Amino acid sequence: MTFVLALCIVLSLFGYQSPVQAAGFTDVPSRASKEVNYLAEGKVIYGVTSTSFSPNETLTRAQVAVFVGRTLQVNGEQRETRFSDLGKGNSASGFVESLVAKGIMSGTGEKTFSPSKAVTRGEMAVILSKAFNYSGNAEQALLSLGIASGMEDGTFGTNKTITRADFAVFLARAVNPSYRLKQSASFNTKLVSTTNNLNIRTGPSTSYTSVGKISANTAVTGAHTIAGWTYVKAGTTTGFIYNSYLKSSTGAVPSPPAESADSSLSGQTIILDPGHGGTDPGAVGNGLKEKDVVLKMGLQVNNLLKKTPFNVKMTRSTDVFIKLGDRSTFAKNQGGDIFVSIHANAASASATGTETYYYSAANPHVADSKLLGEKIQARMLDAWDLRDRGTKSGNFSVLRENTMPAALLELGFISNAGDAAKMASDAQMNKMSIAIYNGILDYYKAKGYNVNQYYK
Ligand SMILES: [Zn+2]
Repeated sequence: MTFVLALCIVLSLFGYQSPVQAAGFTDVPSRASKEVNYLAEGKVIYGVTSTSFSPNETLTRAQVAVFVGRTLQVNGEQRETRFSDLGKGNSASGFVESLVAKGIMSGTGEKTFSPSKAVTRGEMAVILSKAFNYSGNAEQALLSLGIASGMEDGTFGTNKTITRADFAVFLARAVNPSYRLKQSASFNTKLVSTTNNLNIRTGPSTSYTSVGKISANTAVTGAHTIAGWTYVKAGTTTGFIYNSYLKSSTGAVPSPPAESADSSLSGQTIILDPGHGGTDPGAVGNGLKEKDVVLKMGLQVNNLLKKTPFNVKMTRSTDVFIKLGDRSTFAKNQGGDIFVSIHANAASASATGTETYYYSAANPHVADSKLLGEKIQARMLDAWDLRDRGTKSGNFSVLRENTMPAALLELGFISNAGDAAKMASDAQMNKMSIAIYNGILDYYKAKGYNVNQYYK
């Protein structure tokens, strides 16, 4: 306990130092200094040395990936990429791989990323537009939100390169509307705080300064969400609150939509995780093995999702053993946006029913994990009409270690003759795979995505 307290004090001291470090750049022009300081405070941008930001240096594609990736808090762990010109040794490799998986950036060729190539204003507009889910023409979106202004010649300067300082200005404006050329945030989601002493911060991470605190049950209005934080207005204070401490004022779970809800499904990666496999049969009963049932189900859901714009990845698609830790690592490395683990239960012969789990301890995705679980659970109950054992909190590795909304499904009890008969029936398995598929769509629909045309 004492150690934890000491650590907290040390951490908060570091927290206070970062704005000072940021202000330590001696080469940032005054027109960009407050934005550079802001992003440095949020640990989004670093200098080339402690006193130099190299503001006039041309921004490269690798640098954009790092800045945007840190802002969105994607997995930046250095790793192999899909590009032959960007190895694990490049400090941007993890950010590039995560952003490409999310559809926010793409290669310059099938196997090339051109990390050192300069970014143009047009490319910057597309990247920011995808990163923050702006709808319509990217350049127009940036102009209308007051994130960018046109060039003196009246054009957007689409093919002009951009400096590190200029990009910092654009990025700060995208994150926090108080830096924009015009106040363009629309606070139209009614929310309520769920805890006391809740910090409102200047940016979407705990690195940013707290500008006020509110108590539980305070009404606030929300605009856009970044990395699990919502930009809110509470009285006269504006700033970011962590989504886990907000709920809709109507009592519904969904967190506010992104700045524009019309985000592309192709930017979303769904991870399907059939449990067990190989030497681990999972539960066994009534002539069935859990590993076989859940693999079959996973493959069927995969086939359905493959016909949509969603990206879908399976932790296993054959009868192989995969360690629990490798499942969540795979999900992170694939840039997964949601994780759905498929299992079957076992207990006494009389136990029956369908249940879904999510991890409810502090992480950025409790509300969304619960939402995902509830949506799929409702559809599964419709499909097999088994006893409703609920959507509940569970401490499973694949849920706990994950960095995205995650749910674990227990289709039914393999140890129960009635439940197992459904698992042995092709027709019932088809019905259930459609249910899980529709449940995933229900989740995305609740998050503001337009999925209506994909329902089965
Ligand atoms: Zn299992």
